[in-house]
Amino acid sequence: MRTVSNAVKKLVAKAQPLAKERQRAGRESVPVTEALGRICAVDVTSTIDVPPAANSAMDGYAYCAADGQTKAFKLAVSQRIPAGTAPQSLASGTAVRIFTGGEIPAGADTVAIQENCKEIAGTVRIDNPPPKGSNVRCQGQDIQAGRVIVKTGTRLRAQEMGLLASIGVDRVDVFKPFKVAIFSTGDELVEPGLPLQPGQIYNSNRATLIGLIKSLGMIPVDLGVVPDRQAATQHILRNAAMRGDVIISAGGVSVGAEDHVKSAVAQLGAVEFWKVAIKPGKPIAFGHVENVPFIGLPGNPASVFTTFMILARPFLLAAQGVVDTQPQTLKAIAQFNKTGESREVYLRGRLTNEGVEIYPNQSSGVMSSACWGEVFIRQNTDQSIEVGDLVDVLPYAY
Ligand code: AMP
Ligand code: MG
Repeated sequence: MRTVSNAVKKLVAKAQPLAKERQRAGRESVPVTEALGRICAVDVTSTIDVPPAANSAMDGYAYCAADGQTKAFKLAVSQRIPAGTAPQSLASGTAVRIFTGGEIPAGADTVAIQENCKEIAGTVRIDNPPPKGSNVRCQGQDIQAGRVIVKTGTRLRAQEMGLLASIGVDRVDVFKPFKVAIFSTGDELVEPGLPLQPGQIYNSNRATLIGLIKSLGMIPVDLGVVPDRQAATQHILRNAAMRGDVIISAGGVSVGAEDHVKSAVAQLGAVEFWKVAIKPGKPIAFGHVENVPFIGLPGNPASVFTTFMILARPFLLAAQGVVDTQPQTLKAIAQFNKTGESREVYLRGRLTNEGVEIYPNQSSGVMSSACWGEVFIRQNTDQSIEVGDLVDVLPYAY
């Protein structure tokens, strides 16, 4: 059976041609304030220094350290510089009253905080003079003109939005978001809001998938539920191929007589691989339907969450042009015991002050396991974990 890392490699490799296609055709310009979660389609180079001029980090008095002394000293106050004003050059041998964000006048190099200053009748006494350069934010301390501040393929978070705004950029070129056609399979499924009849369960995977896809900045195209029948499954797959850049299904990819997804995909395109040595979620399938990539996730809710995060997410991000698709891996001390298994296990857990613990019920049907904490603990194939062992921890990445 294919290992997780091999499957991820294959998926990312399959995604790269799609990303190239996007880079040619699928860009748009959006306001920076609307760019959350979008993928930057250009290298953004700053034309300015940030800050554009040195400014004060504190409320206080600015002066030239060469005019001061190591012990308390006095200087005449020659100017008042609140933030937003353009200062005059420092009159030599004087100090200026300055406020946080106020521009340091030419000739000054140090700010004494106001708590150590006493101004009386136009003269300030500076106690405990700070070292030269104190409380001055230098010109370009954050960004220097000419520097690339956001690279092509970066997912824009709030902090990148702020960084772009700080260089005066109001719009940014991003890749058009992927449309991900989704459907769930199963005769037992009924939509939330409707009464539950005997034998039925609520369709939860639809909500999970919509949330996961939106959290990646992509557009879910929801095709609903398909009954466990071959003709209906082929029909929804054709529809999905017309409406999505990628198709993701949940359920019906196992070996049962009621599992029609794999054979329907094989009829309309090809199944390129099936089954990955991952727990939960072994029966995951990958292929294409009429040249549209297809990922068939298993049906169990915790499997959907896990296989999406570990396998579908890197594929989708790579297809969208993201360079860094792998989740961060940390180490933490296990607070639990767990015998090894013949697959790579992604335990749902949470960090504590002492290390990391797992939700007591790791069944693939238990979605509460994914909600309880904020990390996967990766248990490598055949790895027995004992309390005190250092284990791999992957914070949920959205
Ligand atoms: P399957 O992969 O179709 O055999 O489904 C595996 C398990 O997941 C079964 O117990 C299904 O009832 C359940 N399941 C499948 N799809 C969903 C869904 N959309 N929402 C909640 N549970 C589901
Ligand atoms: Mg089913």
